[in-house]
Amino acid sequence: MQDVEVENLTKRFGNFTAVDALTFNVGHGEVFGLLGPNGAGKSTLIRMMTTLLQPTSGTAIVGGYDITHQQDDVRRSIGVIPQAMTSDLELSAAENLLIFAKLYSVPREKRKRLIADLLEAVELTQWADAPVKNLSGGMRRRVEIARGLVHEPSILFLDEPTTGLDPVSRVSVWEMLRKIKAERDLTVL
Ligand code: ADP
Repeated sequence: MQDVEVENLTKRFGNFTAVDALTFNVGHGEVFGLLGPNGAGKSTLIRMMTTLLQPTSGTAIVGGYDITHQQDDVRRSIGVIPQAMTSDLELSAAENLLIFAKLYSVPREKRKRLIADLLEAVELTQWADAPVKNLSGGMRRRVEIARGLVHEPSILFLDEPTTGLDPVSRVSVWEMLRKIKAERDLTVL
């Protein structure tokens, strides 16, 4: 089964072609890497696959849903960790997850357990109630990875998740992702 099917996907900004007729598939459970220099079009591609940007032409099916015609279904199937850190500094790690759980309508009786499990998975249980502003960059990144999984998506999109982190934090974020991937039924781009 394919979790992502991209066909002739193209994005133009005026006369400039940022993504040029790209075609590829990602199978269920794969870890799929997109490599390319700055400006290659990776973020633009991710923005299209995650329904934040409409393609100029071509199609993409994500989690079995069309990115143009079934955006809500796509969004329920995916977790997105954007490049910029977006957790709320004034809230605790657990509160950051709770807000997303509520936005995704995760049932109340499931929330508490799920948030505890995810904070455990990213090894932040003892920091659950600490304001995110007190955490290091790597820890904050791990809060955001946990937050991206709070609605139990089957496909996780990460846009350069370790940019800006020191080498030790980078390794720890990748190890965390590997572990989460092994424990959950996830496809990762
Ligand atoms: P990458 O993520 O691989 O660094 P991007 O997808 O961010 O690449 O950018 C690809 C190209 O598209 C760049 O040349 C960038 O300037 C251009 N681009 C991205 N978004 C826009 C936009 N909204 N309007 C015009 N040009 C854009």
